Amino acid sequence: MGNEEDYLTLLGRAKMNLPETIESHERFVLPELDIIQEGKITILRNFMDVADKVRRDPQHLLHFLLRELGAPGDIDNRRAVFKAKISPQTISERLQQYMDTYVVCTECGRPDTKLVKEDRVMVLECEACGARRPIAVRKTIKTDANALKVGDILEILITDVGKKGDGIGKYNDFVIIIPGTTKGARVHAKITNMSNKTAFGQVTNEAVTR
Ligand SMILES: [Zn+2]
Repeated sequence: MGNEEDYLTLLGRAKMNLPETIESHERFVLPELDIIQEGKITILRNFMDVADKVRRDPQHLLHFLLRELGAPGDIDNRRAVFKAKISPQTISERLQQYMDTYVVCTECGRPDTKLVKEDRVMVLECEACGARRPIAVRKTIKTDANALKVGDILEILITDVGKKGDGIGKYNDFVIIIPGTTKGARVHAKITNMSNKTAFGQVTNEAVTR
């Protein structure tokens, strides 16, 4: 009955291999992020483990994170140090965004991919299923201090007066025009209208929102 024994051994081995096979088709999971905050600094302690796992250039990953998080930072040993207070949730979301953009194959959902440059286009090539897709870099949602939108309330120092007698101030690289104000005044202004780098504001008693 040697044959039957062999068969059972084989069957046992097949069963043991089964979970692994199923697992590899599940959604790819990043290593659990090890994040600590020290005052105004946030440290992703296993940054290099993450970079290794997704098989991407650590500098590429770091630059993506810094841009998306709007914070300066560096790689220090195997850690990423962000010079800002950032919630673990936010870092996790940005990493997932990186995965979706630069790592995971949209055809089969596997992370076994590599980036290749074709002409001037970055292409994601899947080693698991052979699919290829150009990298679609999502427009960064501006979260930096420079962004300005209608409804924002700012404190503005009127530094100039325009031809029509309106007070003019600056906010980052925006020119803010505020009717009814005089040079030297410091006012709270609600942004009512914007075009490119010029914004119109209205004096308000409301508290600044940024
Ligand atoms: Zn694939």
